[in-house]
Amino acid sequence: MRQKRQYKMMRFIVSLVLMALFLPAAPAQAAQVQVNPAIRVGLYFGSNALPGANLLNQAGSGYRFGYFDGGLQFTQLGYTSQTAISMVKTQNVWYSSGQYTATPGSGAAVGCYHLQLPGVYYDFQSAQAAASLYPGGFPAWIDGVYQVRVGAYLDGVSAQAARSSLGLDGAQVAGTSGGGVSVVETGTSRILFQFDSTEGLWLGVKPGLDEWTKTETIFRNNVYYGGFQYQRSGGDLTVVNVLPMEDYVQGVILSEMMATWPVEALKAQAVCARTYGYWHMLRRKHNAAGFDLCNGVCCQAYRGIAGMTDSSRRAVEETYGEYLWYNGSLTEPVYFNSDGGATESAVNVWTEDVPYLQGRLDPYEAAVADQIEKYHWTVTFTRQELSDLLSSKGYANSGIVSVSTQTSATGNVVSITFTDAAGKNFTRTKEACRTLLGLRSQRYTVSGGGGGSSAAVPSVSYYVEGGGTLASLDGVYAIDGSGDVGALGGQTYAVTSSGVSPLTGDASFSGTASGGTSGGNTFTFTGSGWGHGVGMSQWGAYAMAQSGHTYRDILQFYYTGIEVRQP
Ligand SMILES: [Zn+2]
Repeated sequence: MRQKRQYKMMRFIVSLVLMALFLPAAPAQAAQVQVNPAIRVGLYFGSNALPGANLLNQAGSGYRFGYFDGGLQFTQLGYTSQTAISMVKTQNVWYSSGQYTATPGSGAAVGCYHLQLPGVYYDFQSAQAAASLYPGGFPAWIDGVYQVRVGAYLDGVSAQAARSSLGLDGAQVAGTSGGGVSVVETGTSRILFQFDSTEGLWLGVKPGLDEWTKTETIFRNNVYYGGFQYQRSGGDLTVVNVLPMEDYVQGVILSEMMATWPVEALKAQAVCARTYGYWHMLRRKHNAAGFDLCNGVCCQAYRGIAGMTDSSRRAVEETYGEYLWYNGSLTEPVYFNSDGGATESAVNVWTEDVPYLQGRLDPYEAAVADQIEKYHWTVTFTRQELSDLLSSKGYANSGIVSVSTQTSATGNVVSITFTDAAGKNFTRTKEACRTLLGLRSQRYTVSGGGGGSSAAVPSVSYYVEGGGTLASLDGVYAIDGSGDVGALGGQTYAVTSSGVSPLTGDASFSGTASGGTSGGNTFTFTGSGWGHGVGMSQWGAYAMAQSGHTYRDILQFYYTGIEVRQP
């Protein structure tokens, strides 16, 4: 027994070392990428960790207890035929409103003081048989050894009193380390099993009593395939879903797309989700927290497998194990809601130029624009609101009078410049063109205020009393469209029909302003699409699938020069 466990620990440590050796410094090559590996997805962690986590088994066939080793192989230590169980931290918890919490209440209490009987047991069955002789007795696996414990008392005094009344003179009052987890029958104080390891193992729970039946389990109103791992170091439980990659992909496409969409769009999403998930897994961002991927936008949305349809099942099955590759390396296939007419190159949104993430005009999406909520959007700021917003972002200004933009080859805004009444410019580029003002995309024009859309300074017409050309505007004051007076000073700038624009070099003041009554007090951003615009448009995938394209067509359209295949 002891040797077997040590062998397992060795294997665990060896696999950790191997994983560390194979950390991808360079892009992952096909040889490193597996088809359908087991993965760990964090569901509740960090500040969202839980004092207790209920599971409800859909199939009603019970659960196995044990642990997952470094290769995510499951070692079984025990089982129960109960269908509703809860994992709780080994501190005092109370059942209240359907959950176990650390707040004392009137519901069933699971205390962290137990009576430990002398002796150890060869296996789960013998420990369970011995435990059943005592009210509140349960088998425990403590650092590789089966023991029998009795009761769940809230304090040591109660435990000692119970020891006398039960006549368990040889028993010791026992607790656990900060990593202990008890499995209880949901809603009660009855402990079914207790797990504690100071050797880096964590309680694993697998729904179902055999390895072959695919079981769906309800946890916090979501439905999951696979097993669960409960990790804690002194505090609450980090809850991790351990499952095959292909089942994870099913969950992601259900969270990221509508399961009623055409199957070819879902298939494109499945290949993206699988590749993107693997890409993030290889980077081990969450490894210290005990999992490979989280379930939020930081990795990709995953809320279990509720809502599966025939289409969503087919989408995963018909792309089984397929990833997106570029030049033999695994890609990072980012995606987003809708491009509004053109995608954008990664270098114009983030930092790196990525050969397969190049912007292009999208001839497909417009056909489904009327189905997309807020596809065309407009945001209007008053001058005061815009000035205040920019101040709040750290750009002190004397009142924004003009906004101008520069666009990429595909027409998305890649540089935005704000000019204040003192002629001071703030320029932000790339993704900030969207995020700074909380706009829905980088695809927009600006009107009103002093700025025309894409208004490079030389294209503005200037009006100067009497016409002619001025060599300098020093000492000259200007009145803008809303009646505000600005001192021109050393930096020369001029009044246009709708505000003030800076002038550089040998500006020539000629021509006449037309009208002079445009909305100088407001700035209107008029755009289309939603998201960062790099990679695949999900609505574009929908539109392409609607018009008869395959998932390969979709992926090849949105990702330049990629291959779709198994490793
Ligand atoms: Zn994440």
